[in-house]
Amino acid sequence: MKYIILDLEWNQSGIPEESVKDLTFEIVEVGAVKLNEDRVMVDEFSCLVKPQVYSKMHHITRKLIHLRMEELEKGQPFTKVAEDFLNWCGKDYMFGTWGPLDLTELQNNLRYYDMKPLSNGPIAFFDVQKLFSIAFEDGKSRKSLEYAVDFLKIEKDIPFHRAFSDAYYTAKVFAKIDEKLANSHVSYDTFRAPKDEDHEVWVDFDKYSKFISRGFETKQDLLFNKRVMNTRCYKCGKGTFKRIRWFSPNHKNYYYVGFCPRHGYVKSKVRVRKDCNDLFYCVKTMKKIDKETYRTLYEKYVKYKENKKKQIAKAKGK
Ligand SMILES: [Zn+2]
Repeated sequence: MKYIILDLEWNQSGIPEESVKDLTFEIVEVGAVKLNEDRVMVDEFSCLVKPQVYSKMHHITRKLIHLRMEELEKGQPFTKVAEDFLNWCGKDYMFGTWGPLDLTELQNNLRYYDMKPLSNGPIAFFDVQKLFSIAFEDGKSRKSLEYAVDFLKIEKDIPFHRAFSDAYYTAKVFAKIDEKLANSHVSYDTFRAPKDEDHEVWVDFDKYSKFISRGFETKQDLLFNKRVMNTRCYKCGKGTFKRIRWFSPNHKNYYYVGFCPRHGYVKSKVRVRKDCNDLFYCVKTMKKIDKETYRTLYEKYVKYKENKKKQIAKAKGK
C-alpha cells in the first residue's frame, strides 16, 4: 500500500453575500507526494487550478499562500486537475493530510463539478497534525506544520505555504511517526456518512472504540437507534450497569457512563453531525475512564439536571 500525502490550497469570496453556497472554498492548488510502504518519497504531484467561481483572491488566501490570480490563470480547470490527480494516486493507497479539512474540501469540490465521488462513505486517513500531537505532545494541541518541522529538526530546504511544499513537509513529519502509533489512530473523513448498517464504521483501539453510524433523516431517528445508544462495554461486549444516564448539556454531544465489573467505568460519547446530504449521523466513542473523571462528569450531570429543573419551573411560570 502507498501513502498519498496531500495538501490543498483554496480561495473564498471576500464578500459573504457573494459566497456560493455549495462551494465556500474553491481549490486553487493541489500538491501531493507519494510514499511507498517504507514511507519513502517515490513520486510527486503539483498543479495550479484555474478558478471558475471566485475571480478575486481573498486577502487571507493571498497572505497565507502567496499566490496571485495571474498565476492561477495559468492553471488547469479543476475537473482536469482532479482527474489527473486521482489517476496519479493509483489504486491501493491511503491519504495523509495536515489537519482534518483537505479531504472534505476535495470531496466538496468534486461534488460541485458533478464528478465521481471519492467514496460512498467515510474515508480512513492519517491526520498527521493530530498524530504529531499524540506522538510528541499532549495529544490535544494542534501545532503548525512549521512548528513540527522545527521540532523534529527536519531540514527546511523549500519554502512553506504552497500546496506541494506543505505536502512535502507533512510527508517528512509523517515518516518520523511510529507506524504502530499511526495505525492505531486512524482518522475518518465523514463528508458522507455510511450509506447503510453494513457500511458503518467500527474500530477498536486499545484505549477506546469508535463507531460511525449511517445517516438518518431526523435527529430523533438517530437518537432512538439501538446501535447508536448501545452501552455495552466495548472491551468485553457485556452489558454495563448504568451510572450516569444519557444526557446532553448542549444538544450536540450526548454522554453516558456505565460500569463493567471487569473493566470499570466506561464512558460513551455521541457527537451528532450532519453530512453533505443533510443526513444526521453520529461519531460515537467509548472509553475506559477512572473514578476521578467519572466524578467530574457526574457533577456536570447534576448541574445539567438542576438547570433543567429551573427551566421547567420557569416555563410553568413559578
Ligand atoms: Zn467489560
